[in-house]
Amino acid sequence: MTTVPSTIAEKLHVLREQIPPHVTLVAVSKTKPVEMLAEALDAGHCDLGENRVQELAAKAAHFETSNVRWHHIGHLQTNKVKQVVPHAHLIHAVDSMRLLEEIDKRSAALGKVSDVLIQLHIAQESQKHGFQSDELERTLNALAKTPLEHVRIRGFMGMATFTDDTAQVGREFRVLRQAFDQWNPGEWDTCSMGMSGDWTIAIDEGSTMVRIGSAIFGSR
Ligand SMILES: *Cc1c(COP(=O)(O)O)cnc(C)c1O
Repeated sequence: MTTVPSTIAEKLHVLREQIPPHVTLVAVSKTKPVEMLAEALDAGHCDLGENRVQELAAKAAHFETSNVRWHHIGHLQTNKVKQVVPHAHLIHAVDSMRLLEEIDKRSAALGKVSDVLIQLHIAQESQKHGFQSDELERTLNALAKTPLEHVRIRGFMGMATFTDDTAQVGREFRVLRQAFDQWNPGEWDTCSMGMSGDWTIAIDEGSTMVRIGSAIFGSR
């Protein structure tokens, strides 16, 4: 008889056993109280994902003495960059040159280099953010000529269409992984794709980082 995992620690343990070792698991803790994040940390899990800048900053202050790696995973507004840069281990969803320049400026002011992922628009949904291919080409070519000193691109991130059509989801993740391989200058190591509902498909298509929230912390 198999038992259904019930605690956060058990859910993390079961996921970690299913996810290949080369794939980083980001536990998406947005909207969840610090007590639940503490359970994840106690279980030895340090990669946590948040999508609201103020919430991330407040939680980072709460867990100041622990070794959390904070991932900013959602759409980021230029005027909020200043609050994210001091805390972020990785900023996942960079979708404009303006945002890159602002991250560069704020990182320079703190004497740090920020790791970021470029978000590509892969879904059949207009509300999902991210670069389209022509804009991506222009931006990456501009950066190759004039690199930003305080931003280090680590790879790409994307979100598939929210649909039961697993073939479509697979196709969208494949597009992202192919773009990652095509544009990788050699040192990129992160293709962030896959959430609670589609992470197995994402890993089959070459994800190196999954962002899983509700399957660990419960629905929001
Ligand atoms: C909320 C969120 C997730 C996690 O979603 P779940 O379906 O709860 O796993 C992953 N990525 C991004 C960008 C998110 O905003």
